[in-house]
Amino acid sequence: MLSCLVPRCCSPLLHLWAVLLPIVSLDTPNHHQDHGVKDRPKLLLLSFDGFRWDYIDRVPTPNFRRIMDKGVKVEFVENTYITKTYPNHYSMVTGLYAETHGIVANEMYDPAVNKSFSMETDSMYDSRWWEEAVPLWVTIQRDGGRSGAAMWPGSDVQIHGMFPNRYLQYNASVSFEHRVQQIVEWFSASKEEAVDFGVLYWEEPDESGHNLGPQSPLMDAIIAGIDEKLGFLMSELKKAGLDDKVNLIVTSDHGMAQLSPEKIIELDEYVDRELYTWVDKSPVVGILPKEGKLDEVYASLLDANPNMVAYKKEHIPERLHYQHNTRIMPILLEAKEGWTIMQNRSGSFMLGNHGYDNTLRSMQPVFVARGPAFRQNYVKTSMRSVDLYPLMCHILSIQPLPNNGSLLNVQDLLSSLPAFSTPTPAHPPTPPKANRSWEMSRPLLQEDLHL
Ligand SMILES: [Zn+2]
Repeated sequence: MLSCLVPRCCSPLLHLWAVLLPIVSLDTPNHHQDHGVKDRPKLLLLSFDGFRWDYIDRVPTPNFRRIMDKGVKVEFVENTYITKTYPNHYSMVTGLYAETHGIVANEMYDPAVNKSFSMETDSMYDSRWWEEAVPLWVTIQRDGGRSGAAMWPGSDVQIHGMFPNRYLQYNASVSFEHRVQQIVEWFSASKEEAVDFGVLYWEEPDESGHNLGPQSPLMDAIIAGIDEKLGFLMSELKKAGLDDKVNLIVTSDHGMAQLSPEKIIELDEYVDRELYTWVDKSPVVGILPKEGKLDEVYASLLDANPNMVAYKKEHIPERLHYQHNTRIMPILLEAKEGWTIMQNRSGSFMLGNHGYDNTLRSMQPVFVARGPAFRQNYVKTSMRSVDLYPLMCHILSIQPLPNNGSLLNVQDLLSSLPAFSTPTPAHPPTPPKANRSWEMSRPLLQEDLHL
């Protein structure tokens, strides 16, 4: 396999790595191809990394508008904690909170196997990290469908023995336009070869948001440029005769908050760095105390700074769904919005960041969609990003695996209601018993997933 050391976002190294890597498009056999190929609905999920919900109102975004006019928009999307790239992209394709799918951060340590994961090293290609859940591209292939992936986080990793039928090896230097052309080609293939489900990822406006800060006027041109990229995708779909056939969801993993060099928390002021290992980065920091030092480190950090909260793992609020996994460290530090946690000021500083509490408006992503499965010109107030998975399974006519989302919460986005639904319920209806196993409200634990 091609060695790939390209960080997907959040790193000034991105452009340094984006060199000399060939564009590799890979095909994998369809393990469960039906003899008679089903006429499945088509769905393309597109993520513009770090596209905050309100960016579409900041500059003219005619292509986002076209999707909203012909489709749906959701105003409040509560994504999953922590609001980082890898946890949220895996939540979108599994319907699970990070504590359950196991990709709990961009940088992780698993004490059970004494191994570390970093999105900036080959460690991310170790299947074990990803196999606490099953992504949608694997599920649809097990059902006889086909999938294609253009650089979605985790889509070039073998998970439960499978890659997407068609995928691109991650390479940050491959243009958005090339990724689009590949995806459109995969959707346009012959009936036996065409993909039913596609995922497409682009690194911006996350990188510019980190470097410039979301309040910078320079972000206006970046956002306008993303809208042009969306326009390119739509025109390519149209040229291929797919625009009325492929359902298109455009969303993101998280938003972006403005930082300030005046708002820095220096851990060295409070605790000796010899007493712990720093596992994940600001603004939510996983702290692994050295053997026997848990209480000492915690006591030093508790109430250390009014702009930072320190939790022992067992006290992390239940609403964050961020506790039940060995990869979550014994102490979690969370900065208040706009604050940066460092060991001291010698570390690199960014003007924008994300990772904060997922109920903060600044952390929430855009969400628009259109296509035959969606209503037209409809605005929904709120959803959770874990609801996206059962919605996509419904559109693709496949049975979802157990997940933290609910189709009931988002069925009003659809042009026709699911079979078990009643029209315009005054209260959320109770799903029939057959659906209860996958419409779960309690936290899902690993044993629920029967992997
Ligand atoms: Zn980022």
